[in-house]
Amino acid sequence: MEDRRGAGEAIRCLRDEGIGFRLRENLRPYTTFKIGGEASLFVEPADERETAAAIRVLCKTSPLFDLPEKAIAIVLGKGSNLLVCDGVVSTPVLFTGRLVWIEAMGGCEVGVGGGTPLAQLLSFCVAEGLSGLEPLSGIPATIGGMAVMNAGAFGQSLSELVEEVVLINWEGEREVLKGNEITWGYRGSSLKGRGVVGVVVLRLSKSSSDSVKKAIREHQKKRRTRQPLNLPSAGSAFKNPPGHYAGELIEKAGLKGERRGDAVISEKHANFIVNIGNAACSDVLELIDYAKRVVFEKFGVRLEEEIEYVC
Ligand SMILES: Cc1cc2nc3c(=O)[nH]c(=O)nc-3n(C[C@H](O)[C@H](O)[C@H](O)COP(=O)(O)OP(=O)(O)OC[C@H]3O[C@@H](n4cnc5c(N)ncnc54)[C@H](O)[C@@H]3O)c2cc1C
Repeated sequence: MEDRRGAGEAIRCLRDEGIGFRLRENLRPYTTFKIGGEASLFVEPADERETAAAIRVLCKTSPLFDLPEKAIAIVLGKGSNLLVCDGVVSTPVLFTGRLVWIEAMGGCEVGVGGGTPLAQLLSFCVAEGLSGLEPLSGIPATIGGMAVMNAGAFGQSLSELVEEVVLINWEGEREVLKGNEITWGYRGSSLKGRGVVGVVVLRLSKSSSDSVKKAIREHQKKRRTRQPLNLPSAGSAFKNPPGHYAGELIEKAGLKGERRGDAVISEKHANFIVNIGNAACSDVLELIDYAKRVVFEKFGVRLEEEIEYVC
């Protein structure tokens, strides 16, 4: 009841502000796992102004939602690190899929809208002969999501390239943060949970189109040989514990091929849980719990999820 009153008020305000939204939006297609139920309110701001306005609307109406402390909304990029619950997600979802733009700023700096897919940015880098992002190619993510998660691959983290971030905080205010004012960690940053990353300014280096294209191809080939990219997943299920590789521990525990419903621990890479058909969130959660238990019993190592649970 309270949720419905909150949603009603939010809907009126969003309409007044001219901000796009949908009710009861199926979240499954918005995740790379292809798992999940519906968002009761799905907000799609078209630009930075609308993002700030949407946050202010949700702030005003959020006391009527049943939200965890301080969380005004769940920010959704490409959903490539998310496991969405099977039921209804009552927290409003703020989708960044329209915050897409790329602007050359001179001196090899590039301003990128937070919802811009990495693949689109890489095409720009090839065209302009800009190098730096090649090791990350193949990550099916947005630049905003990659900044928040400090995505990395083959020894390169996004944080090493970040000059500046524009964050629309949970008060709807614009904060400009220099790269060195952000705390960067292994698959995380101090940007997380603070609002919407609206812009990321990257510092790349000058190269040639051909060599950027070649490096992208090589990294994608390495990825294809190691990862089960033909099936839906959310990438690595667990973080690598200090001194270990999560995939190696899971493989040594004999868990490759372990299955719950249509969720399976990949035969190709044991740190990937893949959806081979119509897996439910509960199937994946069961596999996660099982892998954690068995790995702890066999090796005394506690695995921690890299994928995030959204409910
Ligand atoms: C096949 C595959 C391969 C992968 N390989 C890698 C890899 O090599 N290295 C790696 O690090 N990760 C990898 N991942 C995981 C994933 O792509 C990254 O975590 C990525 O950074 C998530 O970006 P996203 O846009 O999909 O964010 P989402 O999954 O939508 O969200 C992730 C988190 O970021 C928040 N968020 C997203 N966008 C914003 C924004 N604009 N502002 C504020 N918060 C935001 C969300 O609320 C959530 O907390 C892989 C995933 C898949 C499916």
